[in-house]
Amino acid sequence: MKRKEKLRVLAKVPGVYVPILYKPSYNSNNELIEIQPIDGDIPKKIVKQTWRQNTLSHSTVITPDSAWPNIHMIEIVRSCPELCRFCLASYLNLPFRKASLKEGLIPAVEKGFEITNRIGLLGASITQHPEFSELITWLKKDHFDGMRLSLSSVRASTVNPNLTKLLYRRNSKSITIAIESGSKKIRNIVNKKLAEEEIFAAAKYAKEGGLSALKLYGMVGLPTENDKDLEETVSLLLSLKKQISGLRLTFGVSTFVPKAHTPFQWIGVNPKAKKRLQSLGKYLKPNGINFRPESYNWSIIQALISRSDRRLARVIEAVRGAENTLGSWKKAYKEIQNNPHDFIHNDKLPLWDEVIHNEWNSKRKLPWMHLQGPLTSEQLREHHNQSIQNN
Ligand code: SF4
Repeated sequence: MKRKEKLRVLAKVPGVYVPILYKPSYNSNNELIEIQPIDGDIPKKIVKQTWRQNTLSHSTVITPDSAWPNIHMIEIVRSCPELCRFCLASYLNLPFRKASLKEGLIPAVEKGFEITNRIGLLGASITQHPEFSELITWLKKDHFDGMRLSLSSVRASTVNPNLTKLLYRRNSKSITIAIESGSKKIRNIVNKKLAEEEIFAAAKYAKEGGLSALKLYGMVGLPTENDKDLEETVSLLLSLKKQISGLRLTFGVSTFVPKAHTPFQWIGVNPKAKKRLQSLGKYLKPNGINFRPESYNWSIIQALISRSDRRLARVIEAVRGAENTLGSWKKAYKEIQNNPHDFIHNDKLPLWDEVIHNEWNSKRKLPWMHLQGPLTSEQLREHHNQSIQNN
């Protein structure tokens, strides 16, 4: 069978997307009008498929040369029932699924521990696994002495002494919680159901359990954020530092980047985020908080990749081999923008700010409109409106 025929056969397999078999069209303002299959026998929409068995994934290659060296990583849950409005891990992977303790998690831990003492439990919201406390009890067995256990970030309200003591016993020094913001208003907007008391309780349990550090994740540039919200973040972290002395606090903060198939996909990157990152550092660093901002420029590159369409392919090609900086991406973008490939089909790149910073109209045709995720665009818009209008 020839390659072209193979691609056509593959395109009919549910969940398989063959971009070459779809043709976008743009108007004279370089805005997307529609994306259609090139022939009537190719499906109009590609519907994301969902794995529904009671096992999830785990590492198959353990090597010192990976991003997380020598760790056997085990996926505990997929998606997250919390539905924070920016969260791709939650929305794109719905529904929330969990690996069975007996058939999935226990065999995966046993298998990994034969090869390495470093075990990582992963997932968008691992402590919400209904059998998580059973898993913790099982991991206390003497058989696992010498294990170094790491967890992905957990919901603050699920941190308890049982968990922090196990982490300490399994050679972990810290636990990570995502607070997003110290401002209750912002947490409401992003649908983060987290009370300030829960953050303080998590810190207290971390210390009582014997851990020496607490890592918190946050974001700047979230919708409606203003200076007062930032002040509340600073104030929360400073009082945490004061009240729970002896616990090393790290605040990792990134800039909000819109992601496809989430309710915030229409919202752009706030250019004020850059200054806000600097301002947080100014107040937190001198007060003994380990401040770890993600590069604002890197967030802009992420947003470019996140909200562009196939027209970006030529930019990616052009930037290849250049220094991986925002300057290189901007330069390549400009070059390609000034040299459209196909004048007849208006494939000129849209304006930079339109992709990165502007808020998109709800009626706008999205580059991923032919890819059907777990929720429809209308449902995502409802979640967007609930967040923004009710707060
Ligand atoms: S709690 Fe964390 S994983 Fe769950 S939706 Fe919110 S950000 Fe995503």
